[in-house]
Amino acid sequence: MTPAKKKGRVFSGARPTGRQHLGNYLGAIKNYVALQDEYEDTIYCIVDIHALTTVETTKEIRQNTYEMALDWLAAGMRPEDSMIFVQSHVPEVLELHTFLSMVTPLGKLTDLPTFKEKIRHQPHNINYGLVGYPVLMAADITLYKAIVVPVGIDQAPHLEFTREIVRSFNYRYKTDVLIEPQMKGTKIPKVLGIDGENKMSKSLNNHIELASSPDETTKRVMQMVTDPQRARRADPGNPDVCNVFTMHKIFSSDEEVEMINTECRRAGIGCVDCKKIFAKNLNDDLAPFRERRAKLDEEPAEVWDVLIDGGKRAREVAKQTLSEVKDAIGLP
Ligand code: ADP
Repeated sequence: MTPAKKKGRVFSGARPTGRQHLGNYLGAIKNYVALQDEYEDTIYCIVDIHALTTVETTKEIRQNTYEMALDWLAAGMRPEDSMIFVQSHVPEVLELHTFLSMVTPLGKLTDLPTFKEKIRHQPHNINYGLVGYPVLMAADITLYKAIVVPVGIDQAPHLEFTREIVRSFNYRYKTDVLIEPQMKGTKIPKVLGIDGENKMSKSLNNHIELASSPDETTKRVMQMVTDPQRARRADPGNPDVCNVFTMHKIFSSDEEVEMINTECRRAGIGCVDCKKIFAKNLNDDLAPFRERRAKLDEEPAEVWDVLIDGGKRAREVAKQTLSEVKDAIGLP
C-alpha cells in the first residue's frame, strides 16, 4: 500500500529560461518530482512575469516556456498530480504582490545581495520590477499557502525574505492568513558548472542541457575542469575537489565511484577516461528522459493544454486566498 500523502501545499517557480540544465534538475526539478508522491498538492509555475525584470526582448518567452514545460513533463512532473502553469495566467498574483509591497521595507529590498548582483549585471536597466522581484516571489508562494518550497540554495535569501514578509503582513493585520514556508533543498543544492568553480548557469554558459544530444553532452563533459592541481596525467589527483567526481557520485555505480576514488588518487586513471565514464553514464541516465521529451514534442498543443488547465486550477486556489487576504486587511 502506498503511504498517505501529507497535507499542505508545495510550490515552486522558475523563470522561463528554456531548456533546463543539470543544475536546475539536480537542484530543483528532482524535488519537484519527488514531492508529488509526498504531498497532496504540488504547484509548479513558470514565472514569466518575473522574467520581464531582466529580459531585453520577449521574442523568446513563448518558446522558452514551451521548452521548459517539455523538460518538466519529461522529467516526471505529472499534470494529474500537480498544477503546472504559467504565472501570468493567474493575475491574482499581481494583486497580492501589491498588498505585500505595503509591508515590505524598501531598504531591505535594495540591500539584498541578489538585487545588488542584478544591478551589477544590468546597470542600464534597474527597473522597479527588479527591486520588487522578491515581493513577487513571496506573492507566488503565499498565494497558494505553500508550506514547502523546493529550490536551489541560491534562492535561500529570497525564501527567508518571504518568511519575513509573511510575518510583517500577519503582524500588521493581526491575522494568520499567510503561511511561512520552509525551503527544501536537494542533496546537491548548488551544482557547479563545467568550469568547476561557479554555479551552473545558462548565463555563464557553463551548463549541460538535459535535452542535448549524446554527442553534445559528451563534448561538454570533456570540457569539464577537474582537480586544478593535477596538471599532468602522471600527477595523482584529489577527487574531493573535483566536480566530475561529484557527478560520478550521482550518475555512476558504487563500484565505479570506488574505483575512481582509488585510482585517481594514485594516477591510475586519467581525467579523460574518468570523464568518458561519466559522459556515458549521464547519457544512459538521460536516455529515457530524452525519449519522453521527443514524444511530448510531437504534440505541442497538448503541452500548452497542460499549462492552461493547470492555470485554471491554480486560479481557483488563488482567488480563495486573495479573498481571505482582503478580508484580513479590512478592505470594503
Ligand atoms: P530562477 O532564477 O527563476 O529560479 P533558474 O533557472 O535560475 O531560475 O533556477 C530555477 C531553479 O533551479 C531554482 O530553484 C534554482 O535554485 C535552481 N538552480 C538553478 N541553477 C542551479 C544550480 N547550479 N544548482 C542548484 N540549483 C540550481
